[in-house]
Amino acid sequence: MGKKSKYTVDKKGYYGNFGGAYIPEMLYPNIEELRTKYLEIIAEPTFQDEFQKLLRDYVGRPTPLYLAERLSEKHGANIYLKREDLCHTGAHKINNTIGQIILARKLGKTKIIAETGAGQHGVATATVCALTGIECIVYMGEVDMARQRPNVERMRILGAEVRPAKSGSKTLKDATNEALRHWISDPWDTHYIIGSVVGPHPYPDMVARFQSVISEEIKWQLKDQTGNEDPDYVIACVGGGSNAIGAFYHYLDQPEVKLIAVEAGGEGVHSGKSAATTQLGKKGVLHGSKSLVMQTDDGQVIEPHSISAGLDYPGIGPIHAHLFESKRAKFLSATDEEAMKSGIQLSRLEGIIPAIESAHALAALDQLVFDPNDNIVINLSGRGDKDLETYIKWGRY
Ligand SMILES: *Cc1c(COP(=O)(O)O)cnc(C)c1O
Repeated sequence: MGKKSKYTVDKKGYYGNFGGAYIPEMLYPNIEELRTKYLEIIAEPTFQDEFQKLLRDYVGRPTPLYLAERLSEKHGANIYLKREDLCHTGAHKINNTIGQIILARKLGKTKIIAETGAGQHGVATATVCALTGIECIVYMGEVDMARQRPNVERMRILGAEVRPAKSGSKTLKDATNEALRHWISDPWDTHYIIGSVVGPHPYPDMVARFQSVISEEIKWQLKDQTGNEDPDYVIACVGGGSNAIGAFYHYLDQPEVKLIAVEAGGEGVHSGKSAATTQLGKKGVLHGSKSLVMQTDDGQVIEPHSISAGLDYPGIGPIHAHLFESKRAKFLSATDEEAMKSGIQLSRLEGIIPAIESAHALAALDQLVFDPNDNIVINLSGRGDKDLETYIKWGRY
């Protein structure tokens, strides 16, 4: 699960010009404990046994790699869907929270904290805490709690405490601040579960390793179905970038496999209502690492917009900033409108209603030109059940 490559993290915690651990002094002991121990713990056979067993029996892995014939016919190439939407709780996020909860226990931690924006990472965290009987506190902006009521109740049903963040704009950034404050005040028995390939080193690398199971499976599944484990394209949507790096991971050093990352263009990249970080962002520090960040000239973070909550993030994981700068991955964007149309199209052609995040990856099919023999893998990061209200409001189906 993890290998050396010029695209993975270096000894100092960097991906080229990006990454690192920009944290307050007070957090140093927590991050240092994690940094010095995570690789060793993840490599332990007892860790791997438990991780693999839960991925199989609890999450439902391996998830299928499905040749979508009607979608393929429509776009003139062989399109395979990696069905992360079939994971327990409806998306890839659970791969990471399972890994981190086992790690937390091995570190002797008895309490979990997390922050959540739309609530999806909060639900995935509350799920694994219920599974292991560990106390769970999820920080969520007060405004987000009102907007995402069903996820708040899901977390509560699962036994988590949801604490409202009442400062600032009362959204994700404020929830993150409160979670960090909690961790500083209670470092010894608490582990902080971050939900994407963001945050200070070693989080981006740790989360990427847990999600790399996605491309590990794609390799043997594609080989089984086509005789060749390497597709021509791998396409995934990017919020922080965890499902995308999971799908790219084992192809990073194979330049013949084209990697396509799709960001949320919102109402248009230059409309002022977008989350297309690589197109709009500048170098800066966000949530503890150096990356590309949507910010004003004087460094204020710009409020992002996307119709999908999971892509509504003003930054991008440092590994993706590096893949962008080094041109190893190609970054595209899809607007709200394009994503919604692609979500409806998949529903009609294949009987699969995708998460609106994943629909952004599907929208890339209209922006690329394929050879009829091309094999394309699209990472279908989640299912659309959570987005029903957004589909209904959009209305055009
Ligand atoms: C959270 C989420 C995303 C975005 O997060 P990444 O870390 O970029 O993968 C994408 N798709 C779904 C279904 C999500 O829940």
